[in-house]
Amino acid sequence: MLQDFLIPSLLGQDVKDAADFQRRAESIRGHHLAKAGVEMAIWDWLGKREGKSLRQLLGGIREQVDVGVSVGLQASPEVLVKTVGEYLSQGYGRIKIKIKPGRDVGDAKAVRRAFPDIRLQVDANSAYTLDTAESLLPLDALNLLLIEQPLFEDDIWEHHYLQEKFRTPICLDESIITPRHARAALEMKSCKIINIKAGRVAGISQAVAIHDLCRERGIPVWCGGMLETGIGRASNLALASLPGFVLPADISASDRYYKKDITHERFTLNPDSTITVPDGPGLGVTVDDSSLREFSRAQLTLKNK
Ligand code: MG
Repeated sequence: MLQDFLIPSLLGQDVKDAADFQRRAESIRGHHLAKAGVEMAIWDWLGKREGKSLRQLLGGIREQVDVGVSVGLQASPEVLVKTVGEYLSQGYGRIKIKIKPGRDVGDAKAVRRAFPDIRLQVDANSAYTLDTAESLLPLDALNLLLIEQPLFEDDIWEHHYLQEKFRTPICLDESIITPRHARAALEMKSCKIINIKAGRVAGISQAVAIHDLCRERGIPVWCGGMLETGIGRASNLALASLPGFVLPADISASDRYYKKDITHERFTLNPDSTITVPDGPGLGVTVDDSSLREFSRAQLTLKNK
């Protein structure tokens, strides 16, 4: 994907900064993850050139970011409660559980009953339609932070009908793939919270644009996760240090996903359910070459003619 579209059309061009990159890549449709990867490298280079961390370049205000953990569907509500208990004892202060039809209200109730005071939210990953989502109304009694992406990603308008019925804030994730989607969702009153993932929205600069728009309108945002390696995790922490990121991020400690990472640095959970934002130049992490070689499946060398 990257080699087929993005790089050949940009190779040999002088790219000044992230905004300049976005302008040049604008005519290439889609490929958000690839664009986000290239933009991330540009930020790293800019930071190293100026001796500033990504947090400083973006204007982040926090040295530690409040984080939570995302728990997948478990075999039963009992197993779910046990798993959640284990994460709480590791120090995570916010729990998100995945839901789907048949495994929603019962699961959320079981967790809420076992842990009455925790910060709890649910993520449906588009598992409902406007009709079936009505079954989620009892969630309103469980004091959840939010209900994430109940309907399909292109159902921005349909989420508006749902938000009208629910007291709990609806949060959009997969629906928001550009700042334009964010503006449309807010104007349609389709959600009260937005989950921002730089990979989903084609880069850090686009994530910042969505943050700024939401902040102007008093809409809270939080940083989602996409199983990032140490590189993406560092980038997410810098992004989540911006002032509008007021809800805990889905940025877990490295050991939540990887025994071995491709960065020398590993991220650990502080006792107050935060992770420290790297403060070295650029992304503030260094690549472990041997680990990168070990996990590489293909290699491509690009040369400027
Ligand atoms: Mg989600």
